[in-house]
Amino acid sequence: MEKITRIIGYARESTQRQAENGFNLDDQERRIRNYVDIYYSKDGYDLTIIREEGASAKSINRPEFAKVIERIKSHTVDVVVIYTYDRFTRRLKDFIALLELMDKNHVTLDSIMEKFDTSTAMGRFSAHQVVAMAEWEEDTIGERTIRGLEESARQGNFCKNKAPLGYIKVHDGKAKKLQIDPEKADVVRNLFEQIANHDETPFSMANKMSQEHVLGMQWSNSYVYKIMKNKEYYGTFVFRKKEYPDSIPPIVSKELWLKANHMHSDTRRYTRHQYIFKGYVKCNKCKDYMTGTFTSKKHPNRTYIYYRCKICGKVFSEKIILKDVDKDFSKIYRNDLFTIELKKLQQKYTYVNRIIDHLSYDQMIGNLKENYYKELTEQYADKASNIIKELNMAYVKARETTFEGVKYSAKREFLGKYIDKIIVDPISKATTIKWLK
Ligand SMILES: [Zn+2]
Repeated sequence: MEKITRIIGYARESTQRQAENGFNLDDQERRIRNYVDIYYSKDGYDLTIIREEGASAKSINRPEFAKVIERIKSHTVDVVVIYTYDRFTRRLKDFIALLELMDKNHVTLDSIMEKFDTSTAMGRFSAHQVVAMAEWEEDTIGERTIRGLEESARQGNFCKNKAPLGYIKVHDGKAKKLQIDPEKADVVRNLFEQIANHDETPFSMANKMSQEHVLGMQWSNSYVYKIMKNKEYYGTFVFRKKEYPDSIPPIVSKELWLKANHMHSDTRRYTRHQYIFKGYVKCNKCKDYMTGTFTSKKHPNRTYIYYRCKICGKVFSEKIILKDVDKDFSKIYRNDLFTIELKKLQQKYTYVNRIIDHLSYDQMIGNLKENYYKELTEQYADKASNIIKELNMAYVKARETTFEGVKYSAKREFLGKYIDKIIVDPISKATTIKWLK
């Protein structure tokens, strides 16, 4: 007998939207529907969406959530799909109890963003870590802090960790302000000047400046890009995606900034093409490797990359291969990416919390003065909250990274690690990927 998977998609949104990472109810529902359609359509499914509005994750006494629990207990559901664990609960104690309840009733919890296998001890441990972080985050930072930070940003407080190159962070009463560091600011100004008015590109500038040991450092292409894209150089502070104009002493004029950024987008099309699949693409008829080529006939501003068979002369569009590789890329690379990041962040997080524990112990036994204790604890709480932000970013990054979106070097690394060859059929436009064992 065929068995259809009975699924509940649970979406939750609290009233304090701002404090939440992620998406509103409609976004969550859309993502759940797409996800279920991709991963559960093979054997058929029956999806019920349960939406909860204005309910905090601090408590599990929520009206809609009670329906989920009821379905679990009555064995009328097989899988509960959520966008992130914190849609479910932000209390570790509750989370553990829920997992137990689900396990007992053979219901699987499937979070779109967090891919831990909660049927194993290791998977459960990792999941607990994530929820513990969410709990801690809610207890310590919360919306008030974020609002406070935004308010202080409005008042010209530079509340980011590091000053951009060309500035130093100085204390102005309680606030932190940016002050121009003349020597380094000259370097930044020259960079914009060269790109805007002297035909240089970020790439050529990075090379030049590395060779000349400007400021005694190595200049990467990406670092120069980062400088060029930073609006703080013309005086606009950007914090949590909001812009606060005229709150920083400018190093370049807005005109120069715009011109440099405009030149850069213009110069892009003159860069040499990098054939991503060079040495991998084979013609299915001639069994020979194909060579990269391009055309810009249709639109002079756009180039189309192809692979051409030297024997039969037929071509195959790179776009199709990109799309096909991306399907499997998601399964392998994204998990790799996140696991590495998670391990790093967990270590950092444990370390910071250990320091906080030490501080409170020192304070308790009288080794540390109250005001000093407060100051230090705040500093480390800041660090810990940044780690949580990084973790969330790492989730999003890992889940939303596409093959097309990663750097050329990362693409080639991925191919070298996992793919043997890609056989293409220029007539039917089909690709067959041969994976390395
Ligand atoms: Zn051929």
